[in-house]
Amino acid sequence: MRSSLTLILPLLLAGICQVQLQSTYPIYQIIGDISALSEDAQASVQSVRDEDFEFAQRRPDSVKINGNPDCNRVAITLDEGPGENTQKLLDILEQYQVKATFFVVGSHIADYKDVLIKAYEQGHTIGAHSWDHRDYRTLSEDELQDDISKTENEIKDAIGVVPNLVRPPYATINDAVVDVLDKNNVKTILWSLDSQDGVVKDPQTLAEQILKEVRPGEIILLHHYQSTVDVLPLLIEGLQAQQFALATVDQLLEIEAYKQ
Ligand SMILES: [Zn+2]
Repeated sequence: MRSSLTLILPLLLAGICQVQLQSTYPIYQIIGDISALSEDAQASVQSVRDEDFEFAQRRPDSVKINGNPDCNRVAITLDEGPGENTQKLLDILEQYQVKATFFVVGSHIADYKDVLIKAYEQGHTIGAHSWDHRDYRTLSEDELQDDISKTENEIKDAIGVVPNLVRPPYATINDAVVDVLDKNNVKTILWSLDSQDGVVKDPQTLAEQILKEVRPGEIILLHHYQSTVDVLPLLIEGLQAQQFALATVDQLLEIEAYKQ
């Protein structure tokens, strides 16, 4: 009896969260070990992180960095798909029976429509990640609106629904960008832990540096690299060993995944 309770209790606790209005969540500083980058690159990453933190504090209903810190859940996000590695990522997620959030690039969908449909049908959340990964700050208001609409239409053609979650490429935003996203009734979803999966190729090192920093309510940025495929099993096992439940971003933020 005692041993089965010991097994079940952490799982039960992981699902229980204190009720808290999402706009009153403490907002996390954006973290993620960038020591492998050059000094110049570190400075530019840090300045985007600082700007994003400031936006999330100033416009908390629009710009999201993290979920409820009182809740032992985290969200894995997988950007830049759909692509060659999406099926491999889906296989790993299925093996561990966990759900993730895929922020997809509109122009990639035509070549990988089937695997996008599979991701959606398997219960993963699909968010939008622009048409062709341009920095949203460099687009005019009309260009930005076209980009958002074109991406929404492409996703809707594939899976039949329009995402409520939009992740601007590079997480680079300004007030004009957030205003247009607000007008489209979508949430601007950034991240609180940047895994650096494109830089750190050794899966053991990468998993360790994520797991030593991870906080409750974390939104974790990953991509579609081979290093992402390699680290994903270690990361899921490590998160579960720390009693974290894995949630999709909409579950973590207690918002709708798709427009009504
Ligand atoms: Zn991206």
